[in-house]
Amino acid sequence: MESILVLTHCDETGTALSKGSLEAVTAGAELAARLGSTLTFGVVCGDSEKLSSNIPTAGTRWLAVSGEAFAQPRYASDASACEALCRAAQPAIVLAPQSSRFARIMASVAHRLGGRIDTHIAEIRGTNSVEAARWFYRQRIEAVLTRESRPWFLLLDTGTHAPYTGEVAPAQIEHVSVELPAARTTVIGTRTPEQGAAGTIRPDAKLLFVAGAGWTKKQPDGQIHAAEAGDLILKFLQGSSASLGSSKSLVDQGGDGTPVLPFLTHLNQVGQTGSTPRHPKGLATCCHGEEPHVVGWRFIGERRAISLDPNCGWTRGKADVVYIADAFQVMTRVNALLESHGAQ
Ligand SMILES: Cc1cc2nc3c(=O)[nH]c(=O)nc-3n(C[C@H](O)[C@H](O)[C@H](O)COP(=O)(O)OP(=O)(O)OC[C@H]3O[C@@H](n4cnc5c(N)ncnc54)[C@H](O)[C@@H]3O)c2cc1C
Repeated sequence: MESILVLTHCDETGTALSKGSLEAVTAGAELAARLGSTLTFGVVCGDSEKLSSNIPTAGTRWLAVSGEAFAQPRYASDASACEALCRAAQPAIVLAPQSSRFARIMASVAHRLGGRIDTHIAEIRGTNSVEAARWFYRQRIEAVLTRESRPWFLLLDTGTHAPYTGEVAPAQIEHVSVELPAARTTVIGTRTPEQGAAGTIRPDAKLLFVAGAGWTKKQPDGQIHAAEAGDLILKFLQGSSASLGSSKSLVDQGGDGTPVLPFLTHLNQVGQTGSTPRHPKGLATCCHGEEPHVVGWRFIGERRAISLDPNCGWTRGKADVVYIADAFQVMTRVNALLESHGAQ
């Protein structure tokens, strides 16, 4: 019987587990139920008292490393905290969210424990053993991994499991003490860009809205309407809270003198050489739907596209619904509907 430890951390508020952590809780609870294993949770946070009345009761044992030094992400303190939690729980399998906070420390923690680690895990299978599935070659090949060596650390990609929504209740938390190395890094705060591409990328949004190069191409009237395109897209993002993705052709245009949408950068690019976001729904507009772009849509649940071209890649089986229509007209109408809906 494999004992399982789920490592978690707080979100920015310091009073709740992060979304990725809640997903790891779900994965751990499911795996433990399937294997009949013992399940332990570990948390790294600033103040475990703030958490203790509000944590999932899916497991019986909660361990915490808490205190001022653990309120902020920092390599040395986070790695020491997770190492101490693992030594206290002595697990065979360690599950943790692939958050920026844990992704940078977990290989080191696995090494300190003499364990092995695999990252970007999308699914955990197996009824008698642990089988971890992940994607390779830009989400084109799926592999299922097994390992003999223990402890085995699995970092779970966020968005792959439903966040835990089961029972929460006050819990008795066992505190684990940590001897910290002398800190060389002091966290003085967080700065988040409000404007530009960073503000348009919303990994937790229900909808991914993709803009393609068609938005800045000559339209049936022989003119380019880049400014109008920018206004329509921003208005839609504002009204729908969607996340903004782009094709490579559109974000590359800045370099070759074609009109550009000023709020787009390569951070928005979806595809083989861009990102592979996870959203329940996606809407592509003015985009041809070529394979190097669509491979970035692997984890988008329901796919729709608006294109003028009835022979575009989307219509050849890559989208669930394709509207052969002018995206300028469709999005103008959609924005008007969103506005009237919001005004009600
Ligand atoms: C090695 C390699 C890696 C690549 N990586 C990526 C990647 O990561 N991501 C990526 O996106 N691409 C990538 N590409 C490029 C990819 O192959 C395509 O060239 C690119 O995705 C095309 O972008 P697009 O569909 O926006 O533009 P286009 O092919 O120019 O298509 C524009 C579309 O807009 C439509 N349109 C125009 N006006 C309107 C309108 N008013 N209403 C509705 N539709 C309209 C047109 O009919 C056309 O179908 C890569 C290519 C290579 C070789």
